[in-house]
Amino acid sequence: MSFFSTRGGKYVSASQAILNGLSPDGGLYVPSMFPMLTAEELNKLCKLSYSERAVNIIKYYLEDYTTEELEIAIKNAYNSDKFDDGRIAPLIPIDDNTYSLELYHGPTMAFKDMALQILPRLITYAAKKNNEDREVSILVATSGDTGKAALEGFKDVENTSCTVFYPKDGVSDIQKLQMLTTGGNNTKVVGVNGNFDDTQSGLKALFVDEEFRSKMDKNNRLPSSANSINFGRLVPQIVYYISSYCDLLNMNKIAMFHSVNFVVPTGNFGNILAAYYAQSMGLPINKLICASNTNKVLTDFFNTGVYSLEREFFKTISPSMDILISSNLERLLYEMTDRNSELINKWMNDLKELGEFKINETYKTWLNAKFYAGFADDITTKQEIKKIFDKHQYLIDPHTAVGFNVLEQYRKSTNDDTPTIVASTASPYKFSENVLSAIQPGSEIHDAFDSAEVLEKLSNLRIPKQINELKQLEIRHNAVCERNEMADSILK
Ligand SMILES: *Cc1c(COP(=O)(O)O)cnc(C)c1O
Repeated sequence: MSFFSTRGGKYVSASQAILNGLSPDGGLYVPSMFPMLTAEELNKLCKLSYSERAVNIIKYYLEDYTTEELEIAIKNAYNSDKFDDGRIAPLIPIDDNTYSLELYHGPTMAFKDMALQILPRLITYAAKKNNEDREVSILVATSGDTGKAALEGFKDVENTSCTVFYPKDGVSDIQKLQMLTTGGNNTKVVGVNGNFDDTQSGLKALFVDEEFRSKMDKNNRLPSSANSINFGRLVPQIVYYISSYCDLLNMNKIAMFHSVNFVVPTGNFGNILAAYYAQSMGLPINKLICASNTNKVLTDFFNTGVYSLEREFFKTISPSMDILISSNLERLLYEMTDRNSELINKWMNDLKELGEFKINETYKTWLNAKFYAGFADDITTKQEIKKIFDKHQYLIDPHTAVGFNVLEQYRKSTNDDTPTIVASTASPYKFSENVLSAIQPGSEIHDAFDSAEVLEKLSNLRIPKQINELKQLEIRHNAVCERNEMADSILK
């Protein structure tokens, strides 16, 4: 299978797409086709472990990798050293037709681990396959969780380095501490004076900046990306949507080809796009429910057909979704337009020049048939955390709570009773202060570690060992830069 650029540039192999990250024309790589899952194949997958399902599904897309390479990459990622639940991505029933797909059992306690534990090996193999002897410099913009997950994945991986830029005042205390205490002799963490969009746009511009690329080349370094603009991030995410469907079948909750909905708390549109890709492979999905926080650019887009950046940026209690430029939407638009790169170029140009783009009614109808979009503000999000805890004794983080709340809105407005799986994207302990003050309004604890201890007593959910370890670690990174200094800070 080859990989096309959404902006029409030259097609490449899977390993080249993963090695490059972003296409040189500024577009995103997309698979040339979607392999179809037959009933027979789904049945076969259902009998396998999570890791075996992953090998089988990833193999469809990464054709120039051997099965053995994929098996090694996956065995080294999804094991009991790294994941604190043997099921890897357990599906937890909440009520008769609602399930929580817990994606936070990896080393950094957010769903980003599902892909970023695998990506470093995919990149190292890709370098070998393409006779690349430069050091692969992974450049990351993070809204909070990708940074640490990438650092953990790439730390001390031979012939790579990993530089993470995070919005200096835009991540939670635990998220920041996790990044700043990272070890490894090939890691670097830099706070940027700006928000996530500034950071991500700054990096995307560098990927297509000839001067920057040639300076990197002179230093014998090849820039690549660990953000969800890299297809290598998306493909391991397709796995858990298919796998959770198998789990529902195995639990006898649904019959083969019975439809389900997925709810995905969304920022850069990577996670929900992976669900859409699973649907494109024939997974029976009725609705994809796109849940946003107050930065509801996607809710407005799905409901009006206008994607507009003319709006205020809000800092919320779900910081990993504080994003206005959702990069991966471009991949969906590409499929929506039957792969019309000309139109994609026009829209992306409009977005850059005019701050917005608009799609026609036919396209909007296409989108609304597949997606439902809604949002929850911080107050509603906290109420949702409390509601789910009081009703089900189940603790969720603020991102996941946005998802549960938008599901409630969806059910009220549609009466749809299709079994629904909510992607639970982070451990509640990663955002302990806000989770505690949600279930115990008026609580005056302003320390993330103290809050975690109270939460543990109230909930019986064990504090992950990573939280306790974090307390002991030394700060190793303290660099800060302006938005226009990112290139210098990489080249230094
Ligand atoms: C990254 C992240 C999201 C958003 O995922 P996208 O793929 O960017 O849409 C949601 N929740 C958490 C906890 C995250 O870390």
